[in-house]
Amino acid sequence: MEMKKLAFYKDLILKEREKTVKIIEGIDKSWSKTIRDSAGDISAYTTHLADLASDNNEREKDTATLERELRNLKKLDIALRRIYDKTFGICVFCGAKISEKRLIAIPFAEMCIKCKRNSEGANNNH
Ligand SMILES: [Zn+2]
Repeated sequence: MEMKKLAFYKDLILKEREKTVKIIEGIDKSWSKTIRDSAGDISAYTTHLADLASDNNEREKDTATLERELRNLKKLDIALRRIYDKTFGICVFCGAKISEKRLIAIPFAEMCIKCKRNSEGANNNH
């Protein structure tokens, strides 16, 4: 891929990464606000964790979001490394070029659409 295009995707990934980090930090802040108040006091801390654990639906939603965003963050970091390696935009399975349309929609895509479909067909358990 040309340097100019790599730079374009690098920007795209960095922006996406920034958004992801903000979401993670938002959840982190809301979770640790009260924990921080009791920092150093381990018994208060564990009591607090028990409170947090019983704190149901909202937290479950946050947990799901957090897990998803952390996964995205990891993917974005891998994509960044692929930019530096200049292997970005090349399917990790078959070595074909990933279409730019696909890369713009999913900048951390590692597979071309054909391999992606094949892999989804292979394990249909998600
Ligand atoms: Zn492929």
